[in-house]
Amino acid sequence: MRAADVLTEITQVLVTEEEIRARLDEIAAQVAADYEGKDLLLVGVLKGAIMVMADFSRALPTTAPMDWMAVSSYGAGTKSSGVVQIRKDLDTDLHDKHVLIVEDIIDSGLTLSWLLENFASRGAASVEVFALLRKPDAAKVEVDCRYVGFDIPNEFVVGYGLDYAERYRNLRDVAILAPHVYS
Ligand code: 5GP
Ligand code: MG
Ligand code: MG
Repeated sequence: MRAADVLTEITQVLVTEEEIRARLDEIAAQVAADYEGKDLLLVGVLKGAIMVMADFSRALPTTAPMDWMAVSSYGAGTKSSGVVQIRKDLDTDLHDKHVLIVEDIIDSGLTLSWLLENFASRGAASVEVFALLRKPDAAKVEVDCRYVGFDIPNEFVVGYGLDYAERYRNLRDVAILAPHVYS
């Protein structure tokens, strides 16, 4: 689905599919160089990171195992509750692994700071973060994020894996959801 298919439901396209693809190529090249010779494990955070994981992992010039974790801090609304719940844990033992968490977006930062602590306690050799999107003006806690795709304004966005009530994940671009859709 493209932005043109849902024009009345969005107010602005913030990042296009083409911009995302170009940025993923740059970050993949950087990650490949940074992790050369290291035991890299990609950990995607369900469900928002499905699209970025699919495209980012394929942009890498090397193979790396992939695991998934499902946490929830939002429910069906548009505001972070700050309460992180594990819905699906990893299948992989993190001991001595160089973990790269692949995230859709850093908003308050609460989910990631919780995940970083949780993973550190499992004996990973290193834990770094790649977030496709980041809202600097929404930060409630500082998260040390090594790779960032795009900094965006403090608006509720959908598309490229990001949902509102499970819809719009299949929008190819990242767009601001029109307030009439959720109010
Ligand atoms: P946090 O506030 O903990 O940084 O963000 C937690 C999660 O809430 C993100 O990983 C993402 O799944 C979701 N989230 C945060 N901001 C947005 C947004 O603007 N749109 C959508 N659809 N989800 C968001
Ligand atoms: Mg997420
Ligand atoms: Mg969501």
